[in-house]
Amino acid sequence: MTELAYLVAAILVILALKGLSSPESARRGNMFGMLGMGIAVLVTLQMSGIENYTWILVAIATGGLIGGVAAKKVPMTDMPQMVAFMHSLVGLAAVCIAVSAFSNPVAYGIAAADGMMHLASRIELFLGTFIGAITFTASLVAFGKLQGLLSGSPLTFKGQHFLNLALGIIMIGAGVLFCVDQSATAFFLMLAVAMVLGVLLIVPIGGADMPVIVSMLNSYSGWAAAGIGFTLGNNMLIIAGALVGSSGAILSYIMCKAMNRSLFNVLLGGFGSDVSAASGGAVIGERPVKSGSAEDAAFLLTNARSVIIIPGYGLAVARAQHALKELVEVLQAKGVKVRFGIHPVAGRMPGHMNVLLAEADVPYDIVEEMDEINPEFSDTDVALIIGANDVVNPAAKTDSSSPIYGMPILEATKAAHILVVKRSLSVGYAGLDNDLFYMDKTMMIFDDAKKACEAMLHAIE
Ligand code: NDP
Repeated sequence: MTELAYLVAAILVILALKGLSSPESARRGNMFGMLGMGIAVLVTLQMSGIENYTWILVAIATGGLIGGVAAKKVPMTDMPQMVAFMHSLVGLAAVCIAVSAFSNPVAYGIAAADGMMHLASRIELFLGTFIGAITFTASLVAFGKLQGLLSGSPLTFKGQHFLNLALGIIMIGAGVLFCVDQSATAFFLMLAVAMVLGVLLIVPIGGADMPVIVSMLNSYSGWAAAGIGFTLGNNMLIIAGALVGSSGAILSYIMCKAMNRSLFNVLLGGFGSDVSAASGGAVIGERPVKSGSAEDAAFLLTNARSVIIIPGYGLAVARAQHALKELVEVLQAKGVKVRFGIHPVAGRMPGHMNVLLAEADVPYDIVEEMDEINPEFSDTDVALIIGANDVVNPAAKTDSSSPIYGMPILEATKAAHILVVKRSLSVGYAGLDNDLFYMDKTMMIFDDAKKACEAMLHAIE
């Protein structure tokens, strides 16, 4: 019965992942996921061998309370660091279980008659422990960077890759020794080195690469859970861990492709270090720009046949999605063809813009992905960029010295007119100036995204 219930839970987790692949089915997907996890927890609790339910219930209540409050309170813009923090907890849980299993293998049913662990269990414990330890500290550093507690710029030093390689060899060497003789020294040496390695692997990675890293840590946390699932002989943990591990790895791959970079290149770090970089060597604010009012923008928009809206991080900061939705409706009522162009890394987490637009009930059929919308810009009257910067920066295509060179962008520069709504000429996440702001056909609307949308709406009405 237990195995059957776990199978049902695992199928629900698969359905959850399938549902989460589209905003239309995401809520249903979440429900499946919660149901699957609920079944898994209940089934685990009724298994024999549990002597004290009090501590388990106290832990569930405390964790549930903290998680519930955090989920309610954390603003959408801080979601990536919350996800990074949660991955660190998965890593920590894996380490705690590993230390506990190492200390008392008999209680975990992984000991042979002589009290020593089976070789297979030692190997599983080795894998679960080091992946869990790396996930734990690496996720904490990612959290610190995203939360602004640590500098977002890459920290690089001479011999860094050599040091990481040396530590990696020591960690694997200690792990192999542990597999051979089950020595405590080897086990704890491996654990300590893995923790240090977790920190060192993330410090050289710049802020702009953090989304890929968070998704990769998601993958690690899944593999750590799967490794520990083998130690505990728990099929549910193995299946769910493997699903999380592989889906996180696939997401990292998709994101790297969207940035036109290899995972190897991201992992070696150093990207986005030159935060003061300005395109063409000019200082930000020195070049002339054309700026206009919301009324000017409204005039252009109402006289357009087609408009493509490019939302970015600023839309989330201003919480402007509802005002923007109203603006879209008014334009559509005037016969303007309006569509959205979504860059895969717009905002601060994968799918960030889709979530915001879904929250405002923007119909999915006018929300298009980068590859679908890019050929449409040359036949578009107005590209309306709201709170976006890096995802439309032409330097990614034209300036081979730019840190974002090679990253595919939304080709707003091909539209007949460009409107950019943001508060100033400030840089975006990658810390780069943007030549698009200084083009002849660009008009800057310097305002908060929500206020600007409301003002444009007012002017049109
Ligand atoms: P950017 O970070 O490039 O630019 C956002 C712009 O929004 C800023 O230049 C800022 O300009 C403007 N802004 C901020 N607040 C407001 C406001 N209240 N009203 C209007 N504008 C505002 O965002 P993009 O979405 O273009 O690009 C995303 C970047 O973030 C990429 O570099 C990506 O790699 C990175 N990233 C992506 C993640 C993901 O998973 N999607 C996760 C982490 C990073 P101003 O201050 O002048 O208003």
